[in-house]
Amino acid sequence: MDTSNSNTYPTALGVEDFRRNLTAVRARISAACARSSRDPAEVRLLPVSKTVPEERIRLAYAAGCRELGENKVQEALRKAEAMADLTDLRWSVIGHLQTNKTKYVTRFASEFQALDSLRVAESLDRHLQAEGRSLDVLVQVNTSGEASKFGLPPEDLARFVRELPAFSALRVRGLMTLALLSADPTRVRPCFTLLRDLRERLRQDAPDGIVMNELSMGMSGDFELAIEEGATVVRVGQAIFGVRAVPDSHYWPDPPLTSTPKEHIP
Ligand SMILES: *Cc1c(COP(=O)(O)O)cnc(C)c1O
Repeated sequence: MDTSNSNTYPTALGVEDFRRNLTAVRARISAACARSSRDPAEVRLLPVSKTVPEERIRLAYAAGCRELGENKVQEALRKAEAMADLTDLRWSVIGHLQTNKTKYVTRFASEFQALDSLRVAESLDRHLQAEGRSLDVLVQVNTSGEASKFGLPPEDLARFVRELPAFSALRVRGLMTLALLSADPTRVRPCFTLLRDLRERLRQDAPDGIVMNELSMGMSGDFELAIEEGATVVRVGQAIFGVRAVPDSHYWPDPPLTSTPKEHIP
């Protein structure tokens, strides 16, 4: 298990590199499924292309990627517009959203995985209703207790989910989390276990129309653990595209209470 030393992933520069990396990741997914008696078909691989430029994303597409996750909505929108010719490529926004940016998501995304406030839900729903479309969403939960992670505290989740049927353009599919960033599996695994337990509890008293099946959890360094704990979606960037130069703090800044958020230009 290797979460800290991600420079073991060389940059993928050609279609062959992407084919090889995708094959390697799928083999790791299959092995984790075998260990936990799961069917690999239950685990969706969402390649994460944040910071990766268009030329290399097109190579990943040529190697078979048909969906991509992006953390920042403006970066995602820019790429989706530049690659609108790839008509079967689907975009998933997996990062925290400010209310004033919901209108960008509804322009191009097929999924939003980081819902964590009713204001964002209301704003997304309003834009979607106006456009006559709907959006798959996952509710993000902070399972690590770290102040730097977005997402709802576990104890607020049930109450939050009860409000969601009011937003009929949102198709609520399940939960998403980021585990503690640690090389120690005994600290990482409990984050995944907690998300699964929260889903089981919600399934028992979810409001009508809300089906909580999906668990989006696990990244390059920890997706095997996540699969063992029940992940149905793994979000994998560096193991497919290669190591990122931009530190993760750029994508997971301290929330407003502990620091003043700065506007980052990718
Ligand atoms: C970047 C990112 C990932 C993927 O991380 P890797 O280490 O590149 O696999 C997964 N989820 C979210 C929310 C991310 O921002």
